[in-house]
Amino acid sequence: MAKGKQKHKAHVDAVNLLGKDLARRAGRSCELCDKRDDCRAHETNPDKAPELDTLLLLCASCRELLARPGKVPSNHLRFVANHCWTDLAPLRQIVVQLLEPLSDDWAQEAMEQLQMMAVSEID
Ligand SMILES: [Zn+2]
Repeated sequence: MAKGKQKHKAHVDAVNLLGKDLARRAGRSCELCDKRDDCRAHETNPDKAPELDTLLLLCASCRELLARPGKVPSNHLRFVANHCWTDLAPLRQIVVQLLEPLSDDWAQEAMEQLQMMAVSEID
């Protein structure tokens, strides 16, 4: 148990170490909605060692969106589609996570655009 706790602390320390670079990349505002409301690092792959490519700076309400998948009316997620052209890997991951479960036309179109981006990068 103590060992797990230590491991957790090391992980949190590593996230905190990246916090400055993350805040700089994000311009100190939420990378999803641009708000500056209680922005904190969010890990897209918490099982892996933290690095900038697995971190996003997110405000309180966007962290809430991610914490309650499927509980938010899809219209509240429309702004997420603005990011479907992003080349920021962790942001793309979050956009997919939020839009993939939605059956709305606009969400499906945003997903198609994201996939096109992914394909064009391989070329
Ligand atoms: Zn936000």
